[in-house]
Amino acid sequence: MNFSIFPFARTGLASVLACTLGLIAASAAAAPTPAYEKILKIDVHSHIFEDVPAIHALFARINIRTINVCVPGGDGHLALMDRVAFELYGKHPQLYPVTTTFDLLTRDEPAYAARTIAALDRAFARGAVAVKIWKEVGIEIKNRDGKFILPDDPLFDPIYAHLAKIGKPLHAHLAEPIDAWLPLDKDSSHYSYYSTNPQWHLYGKPEYPSHAAIIAARDNIMKKHPTLVVVGAHLGSLEHDLEGIAERLARYPNFHIEVSARTRNLTRHPAEKVRALFEKFPDRILYGVDAGWMPHRRDTPPTAAQRQGHVNSLELRYRADWDYYAGQGETTYNNRQTEALHLPPAILEKFYHANAERLFKLDAAWKRMP
Ligand SMILES: [Zn+2]
Repeated sequence: MNFSIFPFARTGLASVLACTLGLIAASAAAAPTPAYEKILKIDVHSHIFEDVPAIHALFARINIRTINVCVPGGDGHLALMDRVAFELYGKHPQLYPVTTTFDLLTRDEPAYAARTIAALDRAFARGAVAVKIWKEVGIEIKNRDGKFILPDDPLFDPIYAHLAKIGKPLHAHLAEPIDAWLPLDKDSSHYSYYSTNPQWHLYGKPEYPSHAAIIAARDNIMKKHPTLVVVGAHLGSLEHDLEGIAERLARYPNFHIEVSARTRNLTRHPAEKVRALFEKFPDRILYGVDAGWMPHRRDTPPTAAQRQGHVNSLELRYRADWDYYAGQGETTYNNRQTEALHLPPAILEKFYHANAERLFKLDAAWKRMP
């Protein structure tokens, strides 16, 4: 509102008072939800490793930008992912800022932390906005004694300290949904993943660290490095426990969460409880989807029809998410009925873009000249 045209001199005190009261009444009434295409939406969690014009076109049409996340650091694809991600970023700096990751294969070699920091600094010099750490730390990689390396292992402390010092967030997908440690359940939203990825289904495998042990190790990173911005992917792997999320957001001011691949879990909690979490921590929750387009993981190159199928499903996902977070009343999510959150516009703006812009310093990343 432009107050420079406020008509003090001409209208007198009565009009000014009436106008002021009118403003108060207007702000007390519910502000309208922004139109879907109007609000900028930042999906902080994508894995797009091919230049697909139909994806750029979708992003432009529905006003979405993403952060492209390189992961994992232990399967030998790191150099290729970095190359493709930075190429895409160079072509479309406003659509594909990059979150890089670090190598885990050379963790037993001398000067691991120093070499890792130097490699990360090279990625930051090219414009990377953050660093991803993946669940392989905790439930896959082991030290020389054959023990699982937890995320708060001293091995990583110099890296975390460096990120804290230079103000780069750690995007942390650590642990898994609690369902990974429970018997397979056909009613679970994670059933299809664990029934087809048995290597990550840890029920009945007591040799693996527990969910609680990995979460405690993740929390310990935030305790040891209180100025390190941590963005917990997938609701910080606490999708089953809204109280546990709130407790940690309260305890660790440097902790944040994003909702990627877990909106489906939120829809199974009572809407008023999810809404209360957003209302209590409006600056700490970020939007994301976790869509992957990774031709380097396929045996054969993707076809045009497969690319278009991916774009179509991505569009449906973004729209269903919006209908849940911004819509009102009954809505359908993954074929289940749920109650939409109808978050107020001020919270939607933070959740959908302002928090990501602030934490990942996106304004600078978007302006970067390739
Ligand atoms: Zn992901």
